[in-house]
Amino acid sequence: MSTSPQDLSWILNHLGEDRAGYYDAVSPPILQTSTFAAPDLATMRTRVADEYAHHFYTRGNNPTVAILRRKLAALEGTEDALVLASGAAAMAAAVLSFVRAGDHVLCAARPYSWTRVLLRDWLPRFGIAVDFIEGGEVAAFAAAWRPATRMVVLESPNSMTFETQDVPAIAALARARGALSVHDNSYASPLLQQPARMGVDLVVHSATKYLNGHSDGVAGVICGSEAHLRNIFKGPYMTFGAIPAPFEAWLLLRGLRTLEVRMERIVRSTATVVQALREDPRIERLWQPEPSAMLQAPSGMFSVALRAPDLAAVERFCNALQRFLMAVSWGGHESLIFPLACLFDPASAARELGGLPFTLVRFSIGLEAPDVLIADIRQALDCMQRADRVGA
Ligand SMILES: *Cc1c(COP(=O)(O)O)cnc(C)c1O
Repeated sequence: MSTSPQDLSWILNHLGEDRAGYYDAVSPPILQTSTFAAPDLATMRTRVADEYAHHFYTRGNNPTVAILRRKLAALEGTEDALVLASGAAAMAAAVLSFVRAGDHVLCAARPYSWTRVLLRDWLPRFGIAVDFIEGGEVAAFAAAWRPATRMVVLESPNSMTFETQDVPAIAALARARGALSVHDNSYASPLLQQPARMGVDLVVHSATKYLNGHSDGVAGVICGSEAHLRNIFKGPYMTFGAIPAPFEAWLLLRGLRTLEVRMERIVRSTATVVQALREDPRIERLWQPEPSAMLQAPSGMFSVALRAPDLAAVERFCNALQRFLMAVSWGGHESLIFPLACLFDPASAARELGGLPFTLVRFSIGLEAPDVLIADIRQALDCMQRADRVGA
């Protein structure tokens, strides 16, 4: 069966699975073991000599995780993938593996919050300089380039306002100048955008989001060439040990089975919901990336600025929603909102945070019927406008 073409259905349902090896079970076993016993010393010698390629110890390799790695690599079109305990661990491992004191890193402006903390607060402690680049044009990255620039970190689109970068051009610039490109592809999932096919060296995901899709596990992924992943493996992967438990890997495998149908549904529902919001005068602004040569379609995340006079009105809107849970994260089966207002002190007069208004609400559309979601948003907007009525 391994000679079949790697179409999406094959990848999600069959690639990497060795059913004959486990009683023809359709669902793979959770190999909840810390270590692997060798039948003889010669085998042990072979395994310890190349932990990347053998099952020796679960901090390195585990068969349940290995199935996942094959599928994730195929989805992004790379040679291999590593799975880590979280998206943040994946980004940290990808970055730290390739920079050292004296190096310089360029990053797109306003990346995911913990990517920003890693680059802005932690790298300088180890003598690595970082610049955040406004605008997604390759010229802006070229202008900030230094002789010591070793890495470019991209997130197109980014997490709150969905600004994009010219990924193929920036990846080509990095390659031409001997630097490595890293791209956080969590927003799009590999189904809507494949940065490695645009020349990016390392594709990082928070697998907690679309890849898992069920809000029941935290994990991260790095996709890339075997040479780069071996470097990460013998570096931060093995030394920090931020690995997924076999059970988390199994949950991620289960989530992946439905990736295609979930993304199809989410893309369609989001277009319907966004259309309704664009027509609503109570929405002041809407942030969503455009489909492009890079991005096949917008996924389920977008942000709006409510036409709300004060924090209390924003609170009325958020509290009145019945079908959206109020939570951080996104990409699950359930629709969520993340109101920026949660970062504002009601006693303070501040109206902006990092250039973003207190009225900003980020949406993640899940698998519910879009008409239900639209009706819910409309009744919450009604509540927002009625100062005398406290939301449900
Ligand atoms: C959530 C997120 C991360 C971090 O992933 P965790 O799994 O929460 O560690 C990284 N990048 C983006 C864009 C995210 O949304």
